[in-house]
Amino acid sequence: MERNVSSLAIVVHSQRYGQLHRKLKLLTVDFGLIDVVSYGARKSVKAVKAEVFVDGQFFLYYNPVKKSYTLSDVQVVATHDEIRSDLGATYAALFFCEMIMKTHGGDSPQQYDLMSKALDMLVSHRMLANRILIQFVWKLIAICGLQSGLERCPICDRLYESNEILSFNAQLSAPCCSDCATLDSAMMLPPGARKYLSVTASMDFVSAVFVALSDTATLRIKNYLLRYAAIVSGGALKTLSGGLLQTEL
Ligand SMILES: [Zn+2]
Repeated sequence: MERNVSSLAIVVHSQRYGQLHRKLKLLTVDFGLIDVVSYGARKSVKAVKAEVFVDGQFFLYYNPVKKSYTLSDVQVVATHDEIRSDLGATYAALFFCEMIMKTHGGDSPQQYDLMSKALDMLVSHRMLANRILIQFVWKLIAICGLQSGLERCPICDRLYESNEILSFNAQLSAPCCSDCATLDSAMMLPPGARKYLSVTASMDFVSAVFVALSDTATLRIKNYLLRYAAIVSGGALKTLSGGLLQTEL
């Protein structure tokens, strides 16, 4: 009855399941976002180790009647364990996981690729955490099909002036001209930040993270995109409630 299936995937959530087991949420390339039960994960030393942030090839049993998955084995590509020893990096990575869970339904291979690279870079380029965060949100907005061009207002179609400060339309979840704005004074996009987001929109994730930004611009753009992330996620994000990602990192 059960079928063996496998996919590249990242563990984005893990919780207790009964006394001995864990229920994982996997962002998979082949099956989207799925729940997988890992039997004996809490006690047995022989149990498959699949903690949050683990990236690898997951081998699963699929029960087509119950439409449920159980974990058989995992070939780890990267544990990303280094992230856990750093509070800021941990918060950033948990924020990525929360965003993935809130916005799922987009293109799974692209989301997996973004998540995999973002976690790798948090390990290899910890100093660039703010830019990794910025580009994670900006690329995820694009994957979800919500990224609008920054050359003209998506509502009235007017070309922006070069020095224009963009406002925001909450219904469309997109920047717009001041005439088309709904009230959200916190979502103001100055010309420098707009140019940066516009230029990096066409770059791949890693190249975009390496584009230099001043500390002041980094902080401003990061806080803009964290608010943007909350809007596209449809409400408050747990990982943003403590304020750590907005200030430290
Ligand atoms: Zn407009």
